[in-house]
Order: sequence, then C-alpha cells, then structure tokens
Amino acid sequence: MEYPFEKQTSDEERPMNCPHCTSPSTKEQSKKTILGYRTFRCAACKHLLNERTGTPFNSLEYPTDIVLLVIVWRLRNKLSLRDVAEMFLERGWSFTHETVRDCKARFAPLLAGQTTRSSWKILVRR
Ligand SMILES: [Zn+2]
Repeated sequence: MEYPFEKQTSDEERPMNCPHCTSPSTKEQSKKTILGYRTFRCAACKHLLNERTGTPFNSLEYPTDIVLLVIVWRLRNKLSLRDVAEMFLERGWSFTHETVRDCKARFAPLLAGQTTRSSWKILVRR
C-alpha cells in the first residue's frame, strides 16, 4: 500500500515555488535546516524559505514524515498514545503521549483530506 505522504525521490531535485509571492524563481541555498530540509531564497521577494514554509508542518520540531507516521501508527494499529510515544522512543524520537494526541488532532484531518475515501477507511479500519 502506498501512502500519500511518502517522500518522492524526485523532490530532491525539484525547485520550489515561493509560498509568499508564488514566484518560481527560488534559488536553493547550501545551508539546510536543523531537521535537514533544503532552504531557498526567493529572487522576487527575497524571503528565505524551506521545504515546509507555508505548510501546516512548518513550526513543528519533528520531521514531517515522523509526525505522519505517528498518526498512521496511532490510527491504523489502534495503539495507545503512550504505546506510540514509547515505540518512537525506541527509535530515537523522544516525545510525550500528549504530543501524539496533539499531532493526531492537528494533522489526521489533513491526512484524511489527501486520501481517497476508500484508502482512508483501510487506514483506520480494524
Ligand atoms: Zn517570494
């Protein structure tokens, strides 16, 4: 099963449109964010931006794929909030069960909006 949030390898080479002025004339900078996201400078409005600028995930302290994986594990496997937090702790990501609850409340509706009705049912069924 392919999830809609799987990172595409072609994203690595794709330039980014500026979310502030929608200009396609952005130039990739050599520096990356702390989480490893590529940074760009808009030639039109001079804003500095990164791959998450203008998305609901921009202010998160965790990578987007980790947040989405938390939601999928919580919903698809019907794990408790504490179980999900503990499973990610075993993989080096430290956050509380309240963070899991907050992530689900904030981003599960977005995830549902990007899936077809039938794939979402598969995702939450069991
Ligand atoms: Zn711009």
